[in-house]
Amino acid sequence: MSTIEFEKNLEKYAQLIAEVGVNVQKGHTVVIQVSIDQAPLARLVTAHAYKLGAAEVILQWTDDFIQKEFLTHADSDRLENVPQYRIDQTDDWVSKGASRISIVSANPDALAGVDTDRVATYQSATGKALMNLREATQANRVSWTVVAAAGKEWAAKVFPDLATSDEQVAALWKEIFKTTRIDKEDPVLAWKNHDETLANKAAELNKEQFTALHYTAPGTDLTIGLPKNHLWEGAGSFNARGEKFMANMPTEEVFTAPDANHVDGYICSTKPLSYAGTTITSMKFTFKDGKVVDFSAEEGQDVLAKLLATDEGAKHLGEVALVPDPSPISQSGIIFYNTLFDENASNHLALGSAYAFNLQGGTEMSQEELKAAGLNRSQTHVDFMVGSAAMNIDGIKADGSRVPIFRNGDWA
Ligand code: ZN
Ligand code: ZN
Repeated sequence: MSTIEFEKNLEKYAQLIAEVGVNVQKGHTVVIQVSIDQAPLARLVTAHAYKLGAAEVILQWTDDFIQKEFLTHADSDRLENVPQYRIDQTDDWVSKGASRISIVSANPDALAGVDTDRVATYQSATGKALMNLREATQANRVSWTVVAAAGKEWAAKVFPDLATSDEQVAALWKEIFKTTRIDKEDPVLAWKNHDETLANKAAELNKEQFTALHYTAPGTDLTIGLPKNHLWEGAGSFNARGEKFMANMPTEEVFTAPDANHVDGYICSTKPLSYAGTTITSMKFTFKDGKVVDFSAEEGQDVLAKLLATDEGAKHLGEVALVPDPSPISQSGIIFYNTLFDENASNHLALGSAYAFNLQGGTEMSQEELKAAGLNRSQTHVDFMVGSAAMNIDGIKADGSRVPIFRNGDWA
């Protein structure tokens, strides 16, 4: 990619993020969370958001190094107590119905070596304090999108065999542009078509109303109950104002909420998971009555233990997502060490909170009502990848009959 070509692509990407990602409309407040390394992209997104009529664009700058310093050295009371002004700030965003853009570019191992207790303490404190913002986002009351930018350390982890940092970063950008359809003549139109394809898939599954899914693969034999009136969703979603947005770009999944109390059997992960600045590999879980009763990981076992100990909901599932193995991201054969990409290359599940919109009428329900309907509640939501070319999935109907959904990693 020449510099001119790169700049043209970055411009198209910024437009896509503002126009399709959060679908900025006149009068919207837009909050962008982005690393200081990605300032050029942040500026372009800001400009496009204002061009589309945003009332205000608020930047939340992040930095891997400073975050690591904070988590390593800050007084422990600063880890445990989130100041009131941060809570007020996020409540203000929620009250304005602010759209959220998260641009992820972090080093997957940014926090390696930091005391996992301190990281878990901080995550738990922010998780509790910023609950309103999380609930508004998870119920799609506001528009939100997660997109990527090629951070240097991240690119080095994905492309260790390329000679220079510039080559690594360029290779990662190339993948980002390809998977977000920036290489297409009209990315906005390409996303409209892609959204339709996934919405049709979700509609087919909604018609079936399976009571459970049965997963089999080497190291996996798991039955996942689905709640009554669950809804499968494709790429695009609607916020409380009825405006369409795209929660993830790229996205290849259709997903729904499992019944948090009806998961039985065992399953193993098929790709590494970058969580809390650490890479966790080869995870194995055993479930009984919805709960993780046994687990292990080759690397990062203590971090996984911390994740599961976040709260009761962290030991239960909150998402089942189907992604065919022949998806473009999977076929690239690249391990991205970033959930936004790796989850779109593979069937995946999530530990933690379920999305309220995955249940009919769910966005109008209280937390207690959602829980009673079988939708897991938790401070956390972490996807992990379980799909492979060897995976079969059957849908089980109320009368016990079975319908093949996946055979050898692809739609049956
Ligand atoms: Zn997902
Ligand atoms: Zn998820």
